[in-house]
Amino acid sequence: MSAPILYTIQVAQPAAHLFDVSLTLAEPDPAGQVFSLPAWIPGSYMIREFARHIVSLSAEAEGKPVPVTKLDKHSWRLPAGVPGPVTLRYTVYAWDLSVRSAHLDPTHGFFNGTSVFLAAHGHEDRPHRVDILPPKGLDGAGWRVATSLPEAVGEEGAAERYGFGLYRADSYDALIDHPVEMGTFTLGEFDACGVPHAVAITGRHDCDMDRLLADLKPICEGQIRLFGEPAPMSRYVFLTMAVGDGYGGLEHRASTALLCSRADLPYPGMEEATEGYRQFLGLCSHEYFHTWNVKRIKPAAFVPYRLTEENYTRLLWAFEGFTSYYDDLMLVRSGRIGLDDYLKLLAKTITQVHKGSGRRKQSVAESSFEAWTKYYRQDENSPNAIVSYYTKGALVALLLDLRLRADSHGARSLDTLMQALWQRHGQTGVGVAEDGIFALAAELGGAELAAWLQELVEGTAELPLEHGLCRVGLRLTWEPTSPAPCIGVRTVAEGEALKIANVFDGGSAQAAGLSAGDVLVAIDGLKATAAGFDKLLARRLAGDRAEIHAFRRDELMRFEVELRAPAADTARLVTDPEAGPAALALREGWLAGDQAK
Ligand SMILES: [Zn+2]
Repeated sequence: MSAPILYTIQVAQPAAHLFDVSLTLAEPDPAGQVFSLPAWIPGSYMIREFARHIVSLSAEAEGKPVPVTKLDKHSWRLPAGVPGPVTLRYTVYAWDLSVRSAHLDPTHGFFNGTSVFLAAHGHEDRPHRVDILPPKGLDGAGWRVATSLPEAVGEEGAAERYGFGLYRADSYDALIDHPVEMGTFTLGEFDACGVPHAVAITGRHDCDMDRLLADLKPICEGQIRLFGEPAPMSRYVFLTMAVGDGYGGLEHRASTALLCSRADLPYPGMEEATEGYRQFLGLCSHEYFHTWNVKRIKPAAFVPYRLTEENYTRLLWAFEGFTSYYDDLMLVRSGRIGLDDYLKLLAKTITQVHKGSGRRKQSVAESSFEAWTKYYRQDENSPNAIVSYYTKGALVALLLDLRLRADSHGARSLDTLMQALWQRHGQTGVGVAEDGIFALAAELGGAELAAWLQELVEGTAELPLEHGLCRVGLRLTWEPTSPAPCIGVRTVAEGEALKIANVFDGGSAQAAGLSAGDVLVAIDGLKATAAGFDKLLARRLAGDRAEIHAFRRDELMRFEVELRAPAADTARLVTDPEAGPAALALREGWLAGDQAK
């Protein structure tokens, strides 16, 4: 076996948010060893250039300094002929409170390997070791370590479970797919289908851990059974950061990093799940589903990941959209929410898609491909220009599931398709070709169904939701969010002022010349405030005109805006009392789900 690459990481100056990292490589490339840090983290499709947070970097071999040349924004090279072993030392600034990079202060430390571990080019497939050292200057703080990175059992200095010490990874790809949390987190454990699961919660909170574990267990078991036992991971960890206001998650092969509002966690004595808690369970369910869908079943474009540049695929509607469809569905199937709540969640997704005219200009396949510059870099015009491959992708999944079920009288479903993806791609490591989902759909439901799916994915026509939902006895209706007339803007309160965040294509504000960023001063001669604007609109009729004064930059401008009847763009979804027995049987099978055979 080739010598492992050894990293050490230590909390060096928590108040300055600095980790010290070292990397020792036994056999550097004699032609000049190159190292680089990823520019993006898998699961979050945007170039983030993590190397900008490396503060200083030096190298030494045989006790002597070795000059290092910076090649580009994320790569370094040693001179030719440097003898091994060579050690790199560098400091990483970690002060991004998100699930995507690294965060360190005297209360806790969190990092993704993509932010702290340089890759040694040409050595990515060697075994890697990380010695996670106890923090300097925090003796007795009672810190522990939570990660799904396996302990280097049987090796000198091996970490114990939740301890500092030596951890192992079989490759660089594995090394950077296990985020690490250290601090005085609260810990809970449960077992799902024989696999040990842990929940670590960092940050001040009053979470009822028993309740959370009791709710997560059936969600995880439902997913393991959907894809088929045994589960692909030997252990799973939910790393959770509780803050005042925050939301986010990132999937990994045996763990997830989550950011949530502490108010969304269950509290002692809570009976009915709050909306925030249901949303948090949906987030856990979403990231857990990725354990199969995207961490193991991958687009061919991600096999392997190329971490210093964009990796383009038109398939995120399947990897994020299907995952978004299953996240809430698994809450119903596991009995965490009832049908009425599920229909409200589905209606919300339908509404989100229908609020933006971008759905008529960009397909979900295009949205996937352009994620790097559009979905992940949204601006004031995004509702007019793009569609979300999450929400519309989830609706495509719903329609595909319901049609597969209806066409086969319940014998096949999207579950069948996911199981086939798992067996052919997840278990083999073969990536899914760009047309792979259409090919599989053709196999399961015929060429006509595949062509229909392709039209939903590559087209911009309205989705046939009414027809699809009718197959399982559900009735979709549309109404305006509010009966008051509107001018086609979204505003945000900014202190005392009311600012236009978005101007919607085709609305009367756009026709009158108002722009995103304009600060509303007065409407019909009265001071513009958030509450006042809504009240004024509620008292007026469609067809009336309003005089709006607004600042653009520091210039006062005047606009005459027509008030228009609101669009019926808010979905309502109810069970159809006249649904026949066939629809009811399909609905029952849909909500129960199919386990892998
Ligand atoms: Zn996701």
